[in-house]
Amino acid sequence: MIKIGMKSKTCSKCGETKDISEYWKNAHNPDGLAYECINCRKKYKHKWDIENKEHLQKKWKEYRIKHKYKRREYCKFWRETKHMIVIQVYSDICMECELCGEDDIDVLTIDHIDGGGLKHLKTIPNRDLYAWLGNNNFPDGFRVLCWNCQHREKLRMYDMDSMYKEQFEKDIEQFVEENKRE
Ligand SMILES: [Zn+2]
Ligand SMILES: [Zn+2]
Repeated sequence: MIKIGMKSKTCSKCGETKDISEYWKNAHNPDGLAYECINCRKKYKHKWDIENKEHLQKKWKEYRIKHKYKRREYCKFWRETKHMIVIQVYSDICMECELCGEDDIDVLTIDHIDGGGLKHLKTIPNRDLYAWLGNNNFPDGFRVLCWNCQHREKLRMYDMDSMYKEQFEKDIEQFVEENKRE
């Protein structure tokens, strides 16, 4: 968790002191935040993408060709490898949950950043998101979360939705009231 009372932090890369909202969370650090600001992190990620994404894409293609011919024997192995490559790509190779830092590969999963996961999944052959991501050159819009954080994020989104609904109903009520008086 983020240290209580903390408002700003100095970035270890650019040296600027910035509001804590300019940092991603990182449960591994004592203050609960990443060492570098989001800006620096993105610059680093871009560099990482150029250097490593290509390499992992090549690996993906090699594996795919290999397992097409030996699908039966290697099914389990391929399933695990596929998962591992995808998690590597979307976590900048550190294989951790973006929100809490969980690094147990078995509980890491891919999250649609803007929601709409189920709708998207229905359009994918065999609902195999991992294969789809690899076959589509690892598009943007996805991130690595552990099962717990993914669940928590969904609840949070649902809460926001119902909060909005509540406000909407209050507004309607008020509108009706006001129009009655006139
Ligand atoms: Zn910075
Ligand atoms: Zn997590």
